[in-house]
Amino acid sequence: VIEIRNLHKAYGPLEVLKGVDVTARRGDVVSLIGSSGSGKSTLLRCCNLLEDSQQGDILFKGEGVHWRGEGHQRRPSDAKQVLRIRTNLSMVFQQFNLWAHMTILQNVMEAPLTVLGRPRDEVEAAARGYLDKVGIGDKAEAWPAQLSGGQQQRAAIARALCMEPEALLFDEPTSALDPELEQEVVRVIKDLAAEGRTMIIVTHDMKMARDVSDHVVFLHQGLIEEEGPPDRLFGAPTSERLRGFLKSTT
Ligand code: ATP
Ligand code: MG
Repeated sequence: VIEIRNLHKAYGPLEVLKGVDVTARRGDVVSLIGSSGSGKSTLLRCCNLLEDSQQGDILFKGEGVHWRGEGHQRRPSDAKQVLRIRTNLSMVFQQFNLWAHMTILQNVMEAPLTVLGRPRDEVEAAARGYLDKVGIGDKAEAWPAQLSGGQQQRAAIARALCMEPEALLFDEPTSALDPELEQEVVRVIKDLAAEGRTMIIVTHDMKMARDVSDHVVFLHQGLIEEEGPPDRLFGAPTSERLRGFLKSTT
């Protein structure tokens, strides 16, 4: 579904990604791990074109992004393609980013109605279905501020699912939550993995990464230092840096 090839990204003189390759095939769960500042969020945001990149390519279902310009001037050239890719890669953020002036149901329905232009009754039925699925069907009419952090994050996941995307991108979905609430969200992510959803997950939760991933990528200063299946990566890390990183997180 998503293929990143030799991606380079800099903020001005600061090189954040220095040639990264990541592939998520249909049904794959890929976790991105690494220290703060290693470029995980940037890589995720490059996937759905929320960030520009200067070199390398991004393929969505085998279709390469069309670019114009070079280096810091490089931009996607086909607005329809950008919209298609962005609506098919739904993002879930650390800070749930629900709209405070809309009920939970309205939050979930908003993008399918306005971006996809789907019929209201159909969207409402789907939205209620996804809220049930993440275990907060009874909160449809509540306001975001009335929900716990774990419930708000599950609402954000229902909102992402309601776009019926090809893949979900998670940026530290559990980092803002207390440990008890974290588990509610981990459970939902596990269910989605078991269903065969394609997902890329940036996380500090090594236990979740080990449990749900097909492939784990360890980023260090904008390069992939080591990658592989979770059992090998966590069970028998070869790089000194990865070993140090894993020690520091437990
Ligand atoms: P964390 O674990 O703390 O979330 P990360 O691996 O997600 O870290 P990024 O957010 O991708 O790291 O940031 C990588 C580097 O890029 C950091 O040095 C950061 O300061 C820098 N950076 C990120 N966003 C911007 C921006 N909008 N402008 C300038 N520099 C940025
Ligand atoms: Mg980050």
